[in-house]
Amino acid sequence: MAAPVDSAQTARSVAPRPLPWVAMYHSVDDCSDDPYRVTVTPERLGEQLAWLRRRGLRGVSVADLLAARARGEGRDLVGLTFDDGYADFLTAALPVLRRWNCGATLFVLPGRLGGDNAWDPLGPRKPLLTADGIRQAAAEGVEIGSHGLTHVDLTRADDLTLKTEVVESRALLEELTGVAADGFCYPYGTVDARAVEAVREAGYAYACAIDPGPLTGPHALPRVHVGQNDTAWRLFLKHRLHRLRRRPAEGL
Ligand SMILES: [Zn+2]
Repeated sequence: MAAPVDSAQTARSVAPRPLPWVAMYHSVDDCSDDPYRVTVTPERLGEQLAWLRRRGLRGVSVADLLAARARGEGRDLVGLTFDDGYADFLTAALPVLRRWNCGATLFVLPGRLGGDNAWDPLGPRKPLLTADGIRQAAAEGVEIGSHGLTHVDLTRADDLTLKTEVVESRALLEELTGVAADGFCYPYGTVDARAVEAVREAGYAYACAIDPGPLTGPHALPRVHVGQNDTAWRLFLKHRLHRLRRRPAEGL
């Protein structure tokens, strides 16, 4: 039976939806030496994607997730993001993503092509993708986003550095892949109003943070860290907590 349209129903239909779920990964590799807890094994990643499948969910790039939501769809989609652009993305993550028919967004550092994670003082050193590696990932349908040029905490950067990290990295990625990067990801997940403004001004359509609090919006998307300890049960709890803790936000 069709319910009569009244003002209460209209209000409900425009009420903000729960925030999209965006998972944050970094490296996919052996994780016996992992002081920053940024690594999951390919086996664990496979188990996590299998868990999504069992719940009727599928991993996609953030661009695809946001586009689906803009059409009023995408309740069955989860954003999968991989920060820093480690070389193991091609060899270890991509085969698992393909097996589970998932897309992803890879946030790379065009100022450190072929370098390593020198910003993590404890190591271990992990090689980053070269320009060719990034092009290969893009050719496989992976969305390439910017993580800045060199992995600088933007909330501590002076105005010139902030602008250079945000603007130049986008220009370099366009040169490298042939398409402008729509997505940005704040290094360390740290963000303030000034960084959000710089990212918006540079023309990015969205940006990923971790816990942006009141800044939450298309240019400060919260993400959930997913690690090696996240078995199906813990993922279930994180999914629930994300929905409870994070209020719906304008424009999402
Ligand atoms: Zn990073």
